[in-house]
Amino acid sequence: MNAVIGKQNQNTPRYDRLGNLAMSLPLPQKDDNPDELERALRLSGILQTTLEVDKLIEILAHEILRLIEYQSICYTHQDLGIEQTIGEPANHSCTYRLVVSGETLGELVLTRKKKFTKAETALIETLLCGVVYPLRNALLYQKAIEAAHKDPLTGVNNRASMDEIIDREVNLSSRHGSQLSLLALDIDLFKKINDTHGHATGDCVIKAVAEAIKTAIRSSDMVFRYGGEEFLILLSNTDREGATLLADRMRQKIEETCIICDGTQVSTTVSIGITCMLPENDTRKALFSRADAALYQAKSSGRNCCKFFSADED
Ligand code: GH3
Ligand code: MG
Ligand code: MG
Repeated sequence: MNAVIGKQNQNTPRYDRLGNLAMSLPLPQKDDNPDELERALRLSGILQTTLEVDKLIEILAHEILRLIEYQSICYTHQDLGIEQTIGEPANHSCTYRLVVSGETLGELVLTRKKKFTKAETALIETLLCGVVYPLRNALLYQKAIEAAHKDPLTGVNNRASMDEIIDREVNLSSRHGSQLSLLALDIDLFKKINDTHGHATGDCVIKAVAEAIKTAIRSSDMVFRYGGEEFLILLSNTDREGATLLADRMRQKIEETCIICDGTQVSTTVSIGITCMLPENDTRKALFSRADAALYQAKSSGRNCCKFFSADED
């Protein structure tokens, strides 16, 4: 099997002129230069020690630096949303598209202040031959881990990692005294949607609600599909006022969304319970139960509304 390392266009002012041709490089063979074979094998051996993509790139960065001076290395994998940069980018660069057995493993860009020589790029290419298989394994592992924690219908986090993540955020918030809010969101009268339009349309509505939630929150916030038509949304560094504003914006957005499922137009509303971390002695369980109680209060108040937890209404 050959590892294909496609060297990409470097013919712009930011790039030096190392060539535009995609190259197909055989993995080093026995009768290749022993130094090169040794380097690729050594690197491949070190890289086998981790299945974490970021650690693997760090090792690669370190190993290249042992042989070639450069300012920055950037690894990106668009489909998996990975972008890892080590160092400060400079004006000359060389870019490699990493492909193995037709599968794209991402792109690697090295930069520095002076041009890379042909001998240097040849050396980089040799090292990259040692990275493709460990990188493929690490990416497969990352995909498997992500799939185990994702809800297949909506793509948001499932319950598997929920307790662990919320525990971690609660501990961080306690330690740093930072604000943390939790929203419990439930689709109103969802049973009626299923009964009227069928289960497939119900699924489509759940997906549309998840999309509306995702677009309303920041990248540091987290969404979990908690039950059939229930979601938990964890808002980091967000106080009562911020959480209330966001929850109501989300509620309104969902109410105004015209959901089209297989040609059928459906509309829906949601109720949201809101609570915040207490400054002292708060726990995940207490936070959950307050968010749940607030949701119950929202449902009791006629649905399609947001309620901040109030102990008086318990
Ligand atoms: P409320 O406003 O009080 O929340 O009323 P509701 O009808 O939404 O609440 P209820 O809990 O009675 O109904 C939820 C329904 O969601 C019942 C169940 O059949 C349906 N459900 C659960 N999971 C799924 C799913 O994955 N897909 C679909 N289509 N329906 C689901
Ligand atoms: Mg419901
Ligand atoms: Mg429910």
